[in-house]
Amino acid sequence: MISVESASETILREIKPLDLESVEIVSSLGRVIGEDIRAVRNNPPWDNSAMDGYALVASDTDKASDSDPVTLKVVYDLPAGSLPKEAVKSGQAVRIMTGAPAPDGATAVVMVEKTQALNGAVIIKAPVKAGENIRKSGEDFKAGTTVIKAGSVVRPAEVLMLATVGVPFVFVRKRPRVAVLSTGDELVDVYNVPAAGKIMNSNGYALASLVAECGAEPIQLGIAGDTRESLHEKLSKAMKADCILTSGGVSVGDYDFVKDVLKEMGSSMIFWKVAMKPGKPLAFGVIGGKPAFGLPGNPISSMVAFEQFVRPALLKMAGRRDIFRRTFSARLTKDVKTKPGRMNFIRAELRLDGSGATVEPLEGQGSGVVSTMVRANSFIIVPADSSGFKKDDTVKVQPFDSSVLLREGHGY
Ligand code: AMP
Ligand code: MG
Repeated sequence: MISVESASETILREIKPLDLESVEIVSSLGRVIGEDIRAVRNNPPWDNSAMDGYALVASDTDKASDSDPVTLKVVYDLPAGSLPKEAVKSGQAVRIMTGAPAPDGATAVVMVEKTQALNGAVIIKAPVKAGENIRKSGEDFKAGTTVIKAGSVVRPAEVLMLATVGVPFVFVRKRPRVAVLSTGDELVDVYNVPAAGKIMNSNGYALASLVAECGAEPIQLGIAGDTRESLHEKLSKAMKADCILTSGGVSVGDYDFVKDVLKEMGSSMIFWKVAMKPGKPLAFGVIGGKPAFGLPGNPISSMVAFEQFVRPALLKMAGRRDIFRRTFSARLTKDVKTKPGRMNFIRAELRLDGSGATVEPLEGQGSGVVSTMVRANSFIIVPADSSGFKKDDTVKVQPFDSSVLLREGHGY
């Protein structure tokens, strides 16, 4: 048996980022930027007004007060999108709108709410500070600056930046296409009523959704029977993908042919028992440069193995820098007992409300217990050399979805 850490390292050594492709920025959300993005212009491109108000020479207002207001002549109107007609001189003001370029000579903008307009003039009753309400050219970023680094994930903020710097298309890493094949003579597709002795192919759907959650593209290959021929036939269709996932048939049962068939197809197959629970049997190999994972058949085992090994691999293929789930410390609400020798991933509910993080280990940890998976939002990680923890111990928790960050009512 090998450790989770060394299985992970061995797998990731074989994984290379995919090529780049150009996409429109409207379709770039969630993709990984493949090139440094540099600004060709300052932002803002020119000094401009942060308010609707009057552009003026600030020193004209130095002595302005309620009892001794300053009156300036309004020389023209300046809407956003127009250019200043001429410079502002002492004694003058320009009626300016938010975003309009500051006229030459203007050293401040006074907001309209602090003024009174009167017959082509404006009355100001308090000093205006130099620089007030003027956004300086380049105060956000200057031409030539790298504004997004290669390897960043596109969030709405990155789309804002790409559009701000005037980039309509961007090079991103290709999305991994991932073939998903379920194996087992007992499996039927979800559209059928299972006959006696048969069960639903739930892994095929769960794995496809895990793939999609990574931002990759699942290719559902359905079900292969437990024969070499059936596996060969289905797996040959997997070769157009960038990565191959199978579930089931990797243990030591009489019908567990997946490792043999992957090997026959040219995979430099590595088969392990990984020291983890659930998820012990795992086959991994590389066929024609493509990683192939033989995941265990038990639904929770295959999901846990996906989370620990496939997810980081797909994120690396997609060019991501941060490929591992973060872990948090939380206080246990109940004892957890494990057998030493394997790293345990205990399905749990992490709660971040009130007085810090608490985590509840859930009842029903069998590798086929789907209902526990549905109630869980995280795994408690129990190291291989541990025999568990006591209530109120601080433990390491790995959330696997963002539900932990959401709540019913607002949190102000
Ligand atoms: P195996 O590794 O093929 O021996 O399968 C282990 C267990 O997982 C058995 O109980 C299988 O019936 C179950 N299993 C295998 N594949 C799937 C699947 N695609 N969906 C749901 N259960 C499965
Ligand atoms: Mg099987």
